Amino acid sequence: APAIVWFRRDLRLADLPTLLAARDRSTQALAVFVLDDALLRPSGTPRTTFLTGCLRALDTDLGGRLLVVRGDPAEAIPRIAHAIDADSVHISADHGPYGMRRDDAVESALAASSVPIIRTGSPYAVSPGRISTKAGTPYKVFTSYRRGWLEHGWHSPAATTADTLAWLDPDALSPSNTHRRLADLPPRVGLAELPHPGDHTDGPTLPPAGEAAALRRWRTFRDERLTGYDTHRDRPDKDATTGLSPYLKFGCIHPRTVLHDLRDSPGSAASVLRSELAWRDFYADVLFHRPDTARRNYNVRFDAMRYDAGLDAEAAFDAWRGGRTGYPIVDAGMRQLLGQGWMHNRVRMITASFLTKDLHLPWWRGARHFMTHLVDGDLASNQHGWQWTAGCGTDAAPYFRVFNPITQGERFDPDGDYVRRWVPELRHIGGKAVHRPWARGADESLFSADNPAYPPPIVDHAEERVVALARFGELR
Ligand code: FAD
Repeated sequence: APAIVWFRRDLRLADLPTLLAARDRSTQALAVFVLDDALLRPSGTPRTTFLTGCLRALDTDLGGRLLVVRGDPAEAIPRIAHAIDADSVHISADHGPYGMRRDDAVESALAASSVPIIRTGSPYAVSPGRISTKAGTPYKVFTSYRRGWLEHGWHSPAATTADTLAWLDPDALSPSNTHRRLADLPPRVGLAELPHPGDHTDGPTLPPAGEAAALRRWRTFRDERLTGYDTHRDRPDKDATTGLSPYLKFGCIHPRTVLHDLRDSPGSAASVLRSELAWRDFYADVLFHRPDTARRNYNVRFDAMRYDAGLDAEAAFDAWRGGRTGYPIVDAGMRQLLGQGWMHNRVRMITASFLTKDLHLPWWRGARHFMTHLVDGDLASNQHGWQWTAGCGTDAAPYFRVFNPITQGERFDPDGDYVRRWVPELRHIGGKAVHRPWARGADESLFSADNPAYPPPIVDHAEERVVALARFGELR
């Protein structure tokens, strides 16, 4: 009997243990993807568009044999299993709060017809829940997690060969297969019906989707830019990071593949990149143990935090969202988010700090905005990246570390190129002076016919820093 290989966050064919597990058990298999509205609804156009691009690429790599359906997986998967008389359903494990509930629901529904769901691997180098402190408790601090993570290590990439792919049965849906009740299949969604990257001419410019694009991106980075990653990764004006986050999000490449390629690189660049991948696993582990932290403070002391509210707060949120705060690096970042569905990590920290500590607005509002617009939007990394910055997260680092948007800009965008790229109103200001446009002489007005006015700062950073620290003090 055939197996079902249910693709979710593993939209690739190389290094995919699920495929090997299915082949060991079954004589043929059907590749399936379920478009689940519960996941699509909060995801926003950039991520949905990128996802459909990845599905198209996977379908092409499978010779047009990917069955895409729409609906609740707890209904769709058992229905497909029934229609093709499947003997098992293979997945790579999901450890997110929604994914675990969904998979349990699918498992119970399949149990009625005694079809097992078989979990092999996960989207992480070290799966959530796999390692713990010596006392057997979940890690709370990144540096000790990373030590445990490095000690634990990871598998080598799984060798998916051409004959494994040939085995993904071209005839699984063939009407000549007499056991099958193909009329009972849920309606197939044609990939042509889904949004196409080119459909949104005024939307963000997204990276090319799919496994081949991911591997190309990684190999080019590895060969041309890995050296220098450790020194330049904080510079938003340079293309100095891997750009792999959207591909890792949808599993077009597995972190294991990257870690395997780094194994022979002794340098500090490789070691820093390994650490970044450890952050990704760490946050997934934290969310696995504390699923409530998708919405709530990791550090519950922050439940008493006072936030601003009312019309002024809403106007401030709008200014932040639209990249019109009058702080150039903040505005550049917020506009990069809208323009590319992506933002440089350093600038994610600066903009998040600005929302929570200069505008005194709750981190989850900013996190929601990011999740709508990020092509790499990932619940664990995003919510915990926000909480880390807001001071209520896993970091032992104190809340009183308030990012200064001006000095951060001068330090990490030292020539001002990043700001000038995203804030055209400031293009006439050369060098790093662009980070303090208001400091220019009165005769050099920002306001001219071909330069729409750039707003003055909506708040005074020095004053708001004091307010943020006072509110933090109230929590003790
Ligand atoms: P690189 O520097 O090339 O890093 C390689 C990979 O390591 C990344 O692709 C990512 O998978 C992982 N990584 C790097 N830094 C982090 C980190 N701080 N936390 C977790 N993983 C990391 N990352 C997401 O993938 N999705 C998100 O939704 C997300 N939201 C964030 C929100 C905030 C407020 C902050 C501060 C960070 C967030 N990050 C998120 C982490 C980080 O900003 C991005 O992973 C990184 O910018 C992606 O670019 P890159 O692939 O070029 O990174």
